[in-house]
Amino acid sequence: MSFNEGSNLDTSQVTGGGSRGGLAIGGGIGTLVIVLIGAFLGVDLTSLGSSAANPYDQGQVQPGGSTSEQSFEQCKTGADANRDDTCRIIGTVNSVQDYWQDALPADVGRQYRAAKTVIYSGATQSPCGTASNQTGPFYCPSDERIYIDASFFDELTSRFGADDGALAQEYVVAHEYGHHVENILGFLAKGQDRKTGPLSGGVRIELMADCMAGVWANHAATTKDDQGNTLLRPLTDADIRSALSAASAVGDDHIQEDLGGGTVNPETWTHGSSESRQKWFLAGYESGTVNACDTFSTNDL
Ligand SMILES: [Zn+2]
Repeated sequence: MSFNEGSNLDTSQVTGGGSRGGLAIGGGIGTLVIVLIGAFLGVDLTSLGSSAANPYDQGQVQPGGSTSEQSFEQCKTGADANRDDTCRIIGTVNSVQDYWQDALPADVGRQYRAAKTVIYSGATQSPCGTASNQTGPFYCPSDERIYIDASFFDELTSRFGADDGALAQEYVVAHEYGHHVENILGFLAKGQDRKTGPLSGGVRIELMADCMAGVWANHAATTKDDQGNTLLRPLTDADIRSALSAASAVGDDHIQEDLGGGTVNPETWTHGSSESRQKWFLAGYESGTVNACDTFSTNDL
C-alpha cells in the first residue's frame, strides 16, 4: 500500500549493517533451496545460533572487503517510501511499531518493546549468525532486531514469484515484527521444538507471524505516529492481492515444488503451505486483532 506523501519517516528505528565483501556461494541451487526452506522469513537462526549446527553461514563470508554503513538520508517522507525500497522498509517499520505500541496493551494487556531493524547490504553479523542473501530476512531474539537486505525484494519477485506490489514487501517486514511480538508474548519458545512438518511448533510460529502481519495491514491506514500523522493510505484490493502473492510465494510447498526440484515433502516443512500462509494472513487482516492469531490452539492450520 502507498504512503501518504507528506508523512515523516523516523530513521532512528533502523540502523545500518556493515557490508563485508562478497559471499562464496557453494553447492548450487540444492544448497540454496535447503537454506531457504530452513531460514526463509524465519526465526530459525535463533535455535541454530552460531553453533556448528548452523549448516550454512559460518565461513561463507569471505574476509576482507570494506565495512560500510548505509545512510538513510534519502528517506525523509512518505514520498521517499513510495519510490525507494529501503525507505519503504523504514516507513513500514515505523507504522508496524506505531501499531503494536498501542494495540498490544489494548488487546492483550502487554507492553510493546521497540525493536530496531538492521538494513544491511551484502552480509552482516548478528548474534544469530551471518545475515546474507542466503538467509533472507529474519528476526534474531537475542538482540531483538530484524535483519533485512533491501535487495531481497528483487528476489521475492524474480525468484519466488510474488508480485511487485508494495504490500508484498511490507508484509515481509510486518511478518518479522510478528516474530518480535511473539517473543514479547512468550510464544517463540513454543516454536523451538526443532521439529518440522505441517503441525510443528515452527510452522505455528510462522503462521502466527503471518496473521500478525495481517492484523497490522487491517489497521495500517488508521495507525498514527507520535505527531498524529497517518503514514499509510487505505488498502486496495490490489494491495491485498500483493500480500497474498507474497505469502503464497514463501509457502513451503511452493518452494519445494517450483524451486526445489518438484518433490513436496510436508514432513520437512518449517513455515507452512502457501494456502495456510494466505489463510492466516487473511485471518489477521479480516479480524484486525492479535487474538485471532493463536495458531497453537487449533490443528486446522
Ligand atoms: Zn518467519
